[in-house]
Amino acid sequence: MGLAEYRAKRSFRSTPEPPPGAAKGRGDLRFVVQKHEATRPHYDFRLELDSVLKSWAVPKGPSMDPSVKHLAMQTEDHPLEYRKFAGVIPEGNYGAGKVTIWDEGTYEPIEPAKTRAERAVILRRGYKKGDFKFRLNGRKLKGEFVLVKLKGGPMAKGGNNWLLIKHRDQFAKEGQK
Ligand code: MN
Repeated sequence: MGLAEYRAKRSFRSTPEPPPGAAKGRGDLRFVVQKHEATRPHYDFRLELDSVLKSWAVPKGPSMDPSVKHLAMQTEDHPLEYRKFAGVIPEGNYGAGKVTIWDEGTYEPIEPAKTRAERAVILRRGYKKGDFKFRLNGRKLKGEFVLVKLKGGPMAKGGNNWLLIKHRDQFAKEGQK
């Protein structure tokens, strides 16, 4: 996807959001969830992969309950610098509204992998298959999750709809919608 769409949607003279910079990921792969009080409030779920943040808008937010499947609409890739962004996007700009960091931490594939490069290979393969499994090590979100890409049907307009689902593990919390 790259960052052309991210740039095209924004005027960096009028939004405090970061323009794509020189940040290169190193060490552990990172994730962030930002609460976005836009016209339609949602949570932005972002995972570092291939030097960008793969991004999904989750209207109901992530859940630790494995029995719920929350719609996650894939949005444009964001630059790695966005991981630290919190602030108010002024009226008249794309995504106007307040952004706060709701959770953040590291993430990794569920399959064991020794190096950052090996982890990226496994994650990229899952992402491309539309069966993207990973383990989150955040403050709120912990343990195994999957993003499953929906295929076909009227819900899959543009092919951007996924479901975010918690796996059953020691961190799962039944009954927490
Ligand atoms: Mn958003």
